[in-house]
Amino acid sequence: MDTNDKKIIIAIDGYSSSGKSTMAKSLAKAIGYKYVDTGAMYRAVTLYAMRHGMIGANHTVNIPAIEEALHKIDITFTLMPDGTQHTLLNGEDVENLIRQLDVSENVSPVSAIPAVRQNLVRKQQDFGKERGIVMDGRDIGTTVFPDAELKIFVNAPAATRAMRRVKELQEKGVPVSYDKVLANVVSRDRQDETRAESPLRRAEDAVDLDNSNLTLKEQDAILIKLYNDRISC
Ligand code: C5P
Repeated sequence: MDTNDKKIIIAIDGYSSSGKSTMAKSLAKAIGYKYVDTGAMYRAVTLYAMRHGMIGANHTVNIPAIEEALHKIDITFTLMPDGTQHTLLNGEDVENLIRQLDVSENVSPVSAIPAVRQNLVRKQQDFGKERGIVMDGRDIGTTVFPDAELKIFVNAPAATRAMRRVKELQEKGVPVSYDKVLANVVSRDRQDETRAESPLRRAEDAVDLDNSNLTLKEQDAILIKLYNDRISC
């Protein structure tokens, strides 16, 4: 088989705001693969739960109500004319809403619910059925696609990640405080690492990538090399 015909699965996992999505999007575009942002899927379920009064003060979640609502939640992705991918929740474009801090503050307790994970993992596995996909998240290389041919685990210090997130939100016109974003990044990492169901964990066969001191161009070059090495195996 020609190496160009060999479609693989690329799993990019890592901590909050480590730049996984930027990496995954850029790599998918360069090699003509589909891209799936699994964080967006957990965020969309969280937005639904918030809108329907299933999340109370102190981020307490009404687990039975969320479990019962799962069959009513449809999450899809659409390509916009400018080439960006947007998340649709029951047909509504919620791309900007799901990135707001209030959703970030509620997403980890929602994503710790086993029924939510099982539901979304199944959808993610469906998206990857034909391979030729780059998927980013927390458990892609460990749970969603443990057989992925290329697994990358991304990290950078929390302060660097928080600063990036602040810039990203400010560019979108969302006013945020650095301290709040840093607190959220640290708290989400802790919750994601300690939950019982498919916690954030580096797959044993993942390649580590600390991108703190890399330009986007350098990062892209590393990814393309990793991809080329894998498909020529
Ligand atoms: O990647 P992003 O930061 O947008 O993800 C938001 C949240 O969704 C994470 O903090 C985590 O709680 C949850 N998540 C998850 N498993 C994934 C992707 C995201 O639990 N595969």
